[in-house]
Amino acid sequence: MSTRSTTRRTARSQALFDEASRHLAGGVGSGTRSPRSGWRPVPVFVAEASGSRLTDVDGNVYLDYQMGQGPLILGHRPAPVIEAVTRQLNERGSMWALAHDLEGLAAAAVSARVPSMELLRFGNSGTECVQYALRFARAFTGREKIVRFEGHYHGWSDAIHFSVHPSLDEAGPRDAPATVPSSSGIPAALAETLIVAPWNDVEALERVFAERGEEIAAVITEPILGNAGGVLPRQGYLERMRELTREHGAVLIFDEVLTGHRVGAGGAQGLFGIEPDLTVLAKALGAGFPVAAVGGRREILELVTDGRTMHGGTYNSSPLVCAAVVAATAATGEPGFYETLTARGERLASGLVELAHAAGLEACWSGVGPLCQLWFAPKPPGDYREAIALAQRSPFPTFFAELLDRGVLVQPPQEGLFLISGAHSDEDVETTLELAAEAMPAVARAAAEGRVGPMGGVR
Ligand code: PMP
Repeated sequence: MSTRSTTRRTARSQALFDEASRHLAGGVGSGTRSPRSGWRPVPVFVAEASGSRLTDVDGNVYLDYQMGQGPLILGHRPAPVIEAVTRQLNERGSMWALAHDLEGLAAAAVSARVPSMELLRFGNSGTECVQYALRFARAFTGREKIVRFEGHYHGWSDAIHFSVHPSLDEAGPRDAPATVPSSSGIPAALAETLIVAPWNDVEALERVFAERGEEIAAVITEPILGNAGGVLPRQGYLERMRELTREHGAVLIFDEVLTGHRVGAGGAQGLFGIEPDLTVLAKALGAGFPVAAVGGRREILELVTDGRTMHGGTYNSSPLVCAAVVAATAATGEPGFYETLTARGERLASGLVELAHAAGLEACWSGVGPLCQLWFAPKPPGDYREAIALAQRSPFPTFFAELLDRGVLVQPPQEGLFLISGAHSDEDVETTLELAAEAMPAVARAAAEGRVGPMGGVR
């Protein structure tokens, strides 16, 4: 039985949080790290991390399933990537803003893994490359409207940061959701450039195309809805999306920032056998280094090649991140890498479900092995609104707190995605299940006493 207590766990973290809050807005560098997003009573302040483990400034060691919110596909400080980047840094330099050998090598490595990305460009974050994908799609089609789905997150840019996790009071009818800005400070006029649709609903998408097909430049989707519960697309849904976009001359954009290089060698599109016109990658692409990519059909990217559509950026494809991409792609390209990851994730997810059942709780899991999520519900959600409804009845906050106190770290928002890396061993999975077994009675008590509800704000 764990002997940790929250007070002992957080003493130094609390002091650092108080100190940081004097000048750093909110004491943290991103909304997802704040107490508002579930890190209570204080955010975990990291001392160091290695492999599947992370140590905080209070000396607590955690089995980490947050994995940097996705990038750490090889775990913390993966030797081949760190070696390649260190060599680049020590022997050649970190920053040129000039052409170099590694960017072509990195681009070839990405295209080989995701063949729909015939041509591509690199950038620094998912947000930035999504913004470019929208621009490329509009330039290619000469149209303006983008169809986006409720509950999906495509980065924080004004262009697309609408209806991410709207409150149900403002979200409007399920079949024709309102276009709700997800932050203050976003010009209301931009809502006019978007059409918000419910996800996983073929009829709703057919209706949108029947009514406004000629205005639609692109449909953008997370092919697995990682940002609202690891929700899988229903049978035939992405296929129909592919057909409709093709029939109406619209560009299909897969935002694989979270799923790319994670759910399989070829991302979600490889798993489902669907070729989008444009793809955005980030996170696992650099295995911990800040790099993203946008690419797709040759004739779309040729707009960039010939300069009709602007793509630029001082830090684009720096030699440091290109060295990381080449090394990371080689390491995750080892035979069996994704099969092992998937098997471990499935063992973990199904083990958690069994433990919850044994404690008398309803439970199931969603997603795929390397990106999976436990739900205290009989069946996983199919879209954002179902996810919210389940979260409101869920004892997940207790599960999260009990796990954290025992040294297991998952993402607090959306009921906790488990992200598995190549550094997680079978033994790690078994240890996690033992710790989760200790946590379950408290979760069952919380459920029985009605201590349920969502974790709170997300971004
Ligand atoms: N798209 C998706 C699907 C994401 O999950 C994220 C990040 N969570 C983004 C875009 C934005 O990426 P970044 O944080 O690198 O800007």
